Amino acid sequence: MSIRRDEAISVPVPAVPDDRASRSLHWRRTTSNEPRGFIQPHALDELWFHTGTACNLACPFCLEGSKPGDNRLQMMRFDEVTPFVDEALELGVKQFSFTGGEPFVNKDIISILDYALMHRPCLVLTNATSPLIKRLKQLEPLRNRPCALNFRVSLDYSDAARHDAGRGAGMFDLALEGLRELLEMGFHVSVANQFLPGIAPNVISANFVDVFRAAGLPDDLPRVEFPEFHPPAARVKPPQITERCMTDFHTEETRRRFMCAFSKMIAKSDGRMHVYACTLVDDDPDYILGKTLTEAMQASVSMKHHRCYSCFKYGASCSELK
Ligand code: SF4
Repeated sequence: MSIRRDEAISVPVPAVPDDRASRSLHWRRTTSNEPRGFIQPHALDELWFHTGTACNLACPFCLEGSKPGDNRLQMMRFDEVTPFVDEALELGVKQFSFTGGEPFVNKDIISILDYALMHRPCLVLTNATSPLIKRLKQLEPLRNRPCALNFRVSLDYSDAARHDAGRGAGMFDLALEGLRELLEMGFHVSVANQFLPGIAPNVISANFVDVFRAAGLPDDLPRVEFPEFHPPAARVKPPQITERCMTDFHTEETRRRFMCAFSKMIAKSDGRMHVYACTLVDDDPDYILGKTLTEAMQASVSMKHHRCYSCFKYGASCSELK
């Protein structure tokens, strides 16, 4: 997304409501004491569940710090998920989405999906390697649920060696195998790749088309590209986003496209289920907005996290809804 100055803004930004006293001072003010930019949620179109940071892979760049046995965010159980599905339905949610870690290392994921698919379409982010491949049989009955089950497979780069340098030898080919199996079962699949600065988008697209063709996959698999988000708790200092930035460089329409404006994420930390502002900020307790979705939807969301700059500058988003 390019940033442009929009002189025609007339919609005033609402005042930041009183926030939890426990939040850091910088939730509402920049370090130079200017009013911090924020987003006021307008709808719960999408609800994400973080199934836990345990993963079969240990990629050094993982924004979640996921790896085998990791417990920073704990695996959520079926009984812990269903109350949030029910509450989200009351709030008009349009889609449930699932991320990790690797969702298919969570033993409850099939029953969780089965429950959610009775009500809304679901999207699952997966590395499409062994945890998924071992459970393909369990996915078969989910093809006949009232709502569609969709997947997004991580293929960091079109270059197999570069992908495997982060994910482990043979993981590129295994992901393509998992992807192919999902397509053959009739599921819709998109691909997530990493943004490569300095390479023209059409070159990246052409390289992926070559990979897809060589693997016997459709040329036109949708791709979602992500900038560098850095591991959890990384000390990254992009420019701070003030309230003024959000009106000078964004409009009411573009502010509504930030994930925290139309979605929330449920994650389990310290043994409890929490509602976080979005999928990108689960390493900062300031972004726990409440114990219920109804409570969380009332809270404005500060743009103090370094990943907020990726949303502000590049329009970064995990969602496929907008
Ligand atoms: S990372 Fe993006 S979506 Fe999340 S709170 Fe910051 S601006 Fe909102």
